[in-house]
Amino acid sequence: MRQRNTGAFERGKSPTPRPDDRETATVVPPSGALTPTNALTPTNALALQRTAGNAAVNALVARQPVAIQRAVVSVGNVSFANINSGDAAFAAKADRILQLLSANPSITTFLNGRAATITLEHRVTETPAEVIDRGTGPVDVRLAAFYFEDYDVGYIAGMLAHEFGIHPMAATNDTLEIEEFLRDGDHQVPGLDEGRTMNASTAKQADHIMGVLPISPRYKIYKNLALEMAKQLLDQTFANPEAAPAADVTGLLDCFLMDVASIAATNDNRLAGAGLSDAAATARADIARVYNHYLTLITDDPGLNALVVPWLPGQKTPKAVTDDFLLLGRRVIAAGANKYNYFHKSSISNR
Ligand SMILES: [Zn+2]
Repeated sequence: MRQRNTGAFERGKSPTPRPDDRETATVVPPSGALTPTNALTPTNALALQRTAGNAAVNALVARQPVAIQRAVVSVGNVSFANINSGDAAFAAKADRILQLLSANPSITTFLNGRAATITLEHRVTETPAEVIDRGTGPVDVRLAAFYFEDYDVGYIAGMLAHEFGIHPMAATNDTLEIEEFLRDGDHQVPGLDEGRTMNASTAKQADHIMGVLPISPRYKIYKNLALEMAKQLLDQTFANPEAAPAADVTGLLDCFLMDVASIAATNDNRLAGAGLSDAAATARADIARVYNHYLTLITDDPGLNALVVPWLPGQKTPKAVTDDFLLLGRRVIAAGANKYNYFHKSSISNR
């Protein structure tokens, strides 16, 4: 079980020091942030202390159900709606992600002063994240609690780069106009043999195909965002290598490359790579080849900061793709067993 305590989230306890010019996170405990414990009230604790002494009070405290904490944690106009702020590791993770998103140039331009709120949910069978942008009001991001808890900051950032970069940030008139011309075409899958194609009009989500097609503006927006974030994560490492390991830079780029490769290699039927069948094994081998092709694309991209180069992921083998699927599968199964549900009670009813 994870270590929890009932203390309020205090900024000073975060292991990530920040230069003074950065914004600091603000924590707004919502009403009812602490779940009241049934038996332990100030009145009966005092009564017990009078009659049975401190040891009895301590014993009662030890028997209390774990308090569920929900805190809104914000940096600038980006927030987590329901962090279990009693857990220092979660609080630090949330803080690094908020620092990243709120300072990102592309996201700042896209939000144009609007707020973005990330809500952790008990999601298992759905995709680990989704974004809802109604055009006005805050941008609403839903993220699986298990993904937040189990994956390192780089992978969470990569997941959020997909949510912002492939979806609302790319939904501009210019992008949509160009996509009209690309939508029905059979496009060569980068890295696979001639004739292996992807097609937005037959894929589950057309915008996913457009988000991985190198000539499409949607891909460029997504890729640029991922490369910007890579440099930002590296800056976090420079500021505090202990709290922000450079492995997160690699993790973010690995997440990006796995995402684009698995969409492109399977025409957005990403589950094709899961399972024990020969077809699934072939799909994973394809994903590895496509991954390595996109790796060369981003290595040659002028938007890749030279300082990030040493932290690019290495070539992907089919075995490594299998391991990624197995890891995700294990974590999804654990999430299905409800292991995560109580850490961050959603402020929005789970769907
Ligand atoms: Zn998507």
